[in-house]
Amino acid sequence: MANKETSAVEEFEYRAEMQQLLHLIVHSLYTHKEIFLRELVSNASDALNKIRFRQLSDHSLRGPVGNYSITITLDEDAKTLSVEDTGIGMTKNDLTARLGTVASSGTLAFLEEIGKNDKPVDANLIGQFGVGFYASFMVAERIVIDTLHANPAATAWRWESDGGGSYTISESDRTERGTKVTLHLKDDSAEFSREFRVKGVVRKYSNFVDFPIRVGTEKVNTVKALWRKQKGDVTDKQRSEFYKFITNDYKDPLGHLHVHIEGAVNFDALLFVPKTAPAGFFREDYERCLHLYSSGVFIQDDAKALLPEYLRFVRGVVDTGDLPLNVSREVTQSSQVMTKINSILTGKVLGMLTEWANEEQSDQYETFIGQFGMMLKMGLSQEFKKRDELIELLRYASTNTKDNATTSLKNYVGRMKEGQKAIYYLLGDHMAVARRNPALEYFAKNDLEVLLLVDPVDVFTFTHLHSYDDKPITSIEKADIDLDEADGESALATEAEDNLLALFRITLRDSIEDVKASKRLIDSAATLVVGPSGMDTQVERMMKVVNREFEASKKILEVNMSHPLMKNMARLRAQGGSEDLLEKAVHLVYEGALLIDGNLGETARFVERMTELMVEATRGDTNHA
Ligand code: ADP
Repeated sequence: MANKETSAVEEFEYRAEMQQLLHLIVHSLYTHKEIFLRELVSNASDALNKIRFRQLSDHSLRGPVGNYSITITLDEDAKTLSVEDTGIGMTKNDLTARLGTVASSGTLAFLEEIGKNDKPVDANLIGQFGVGFYASFMVAERIVIDTLHANPAATAWRWESDGGGSYTISESDRTERGTKVTLHLKDDSAEFSREFRVKGVVRKYSNFVDFPIRVGTEKVNTVKALWRKQKGDVTDKQRSEFYKFITNDYKDPLGHLHVHIEGAVNFDALLFVPKTAPAGFFREDYERCLHLYSSGVFIQDDAKALLPEYLRFVRGVVDTGDLPLNVSREVTQSSQVMTKINSILTGKVLGMLTEWANEEQSDQYETFIGQFGMMLKMGLSQEFKKRDELIELLRYASTNTKDNATTSLKNYVGRMKEGQKAIYYLLGDHMAVARRNPALEYFAKNDLEVLLLVDPVDVFTFTHLHSYDDKPITSIEKADIDLDEADGESALATEAEDNLLALFRITLRDSIEDVKASKRLIDSAATLVVGPSGMDTQVERMMKVVNREFEASKKILEVNMSHPLMKNMARLRAQGGSEDLLEKAVHLVYEGALLIDGNLGETARFVERMTELMVEATRGDTNHA
């Protein structure tokens, strides 16, 4: 950040990515420009929450206790709008470091992408990405901030920018704690200096802000804690707007949970599940939007102790009277009250999901599973107590489902054939590849359903589920899987077949554990299976990712004796045919099986052998002619 100091006014250049962002904000066309006001009011409300909380324990802070309010002042002639709060205020460092920071690197890429469209961009999209203040440059040609921090030693500062490459900071004559943001509106946005228009916007987006908002002299919002109202007194629309207000999501929530709990612990909660996973959801440092209030006073906005990690998609507000008002963040982590709330809420959330899941033909649960199914799977390994409930909520693709459809384990069991010994599964990387795995052939022929697990977390979670409803859960890749004899096909092995198997064993002795005549293959010539002590192919792959040194155990090669290739090879060997050709074929059969598993390392050697074989195959006829 360059900094040219003159006597009283310091000039700062925006960082490169901030300049890019501003360019997009200033130069794109928008629908819903009015959301800039929601962002300003929301910042003011955050600042008021902060001072109200700090004043509970620190009496040295500047300004009155109470009188927490937001005032919007308009001047139609001067075309200005200002939003003023009596909140915590900003230090000089806040102005340079916090106000001018792009929340995440993905933000820019995303905005650039939408900026490429010729169509107007929905301004709601900006708010989602934590650069809310700058949305004001959609409507303002110049913005001035006057602010005085609550710290008694603080100086008042004035920040000014026209949204170009730089901003200035100088001392301000502000004498009261808090912040005033003044927008000098562009000509085409002069409507935002009109009272009627601004009141409408405030009612629409900020009605449930917990502090009075005045436009001129009139108090516009109704100030109420929505979550404390009785469920029946809150409309869908109010709930939805509240959700959008606290989360910055522009879509309605997928569902909600509104509870009032009295007893061993007392609290009100209004919780939501979003329709789509929010930006950054799968990142380690994702901040949940789960606000904790203590008797109506905001405490923290990412109250992790309220719900277990695997339910982090839940957003909303929890308000309890059982915590001391001046509770610290550290205390909330370890408090008994929080543990009790966590336990009750976990039960309620799982109960809600179970209800969704049990509804016939419910898109709601399908949408949920598509976005957050993975989190429930992770829950299996995180929370033992809720295992039984969680298992019922899981959904998987299977050889019985099409496209993106999934099945529950319960429905799978309902479809099990008489005499079916286990619940079968196959782990894979991609659905299309998994569906074509030769190991499925026996199961398809015998009409046995197999679960197809291609979610990366399945490797860690599903493999630990050893049984469900007293049925063992078994990987079809395991060699010792108890298959019935494929009908009549496997009469006693002939001598020629034994000889062929022996050739396979000798040729591949360094690479595999054993070779067996397969019971599970119908159309394919060969497949690799896991020995009794080995791991599934997919599990081994994950192990290799975690630990490069990891040595996979040797596999068992199963060959299909009724396949024309094996029949030919057995005959050729019995007739004393070319050893060289036979060995090449053995290698190719093995490498083909590796290829299907996605584990063929030596591709060049494979292609070389195949080319040699093709040379032989294509030479034949012309030579004899
Ligand atoms: P976000 O609100 O998502 O953090 P903004 O760009 O809207 O993103 O604001 C950036 C930061 O600037 C805020 O996190 C806060 O620290 C500070 N800020 C903005 N407005 C105010 C205000 N009215 N009072 C105090 N601090 C503010």
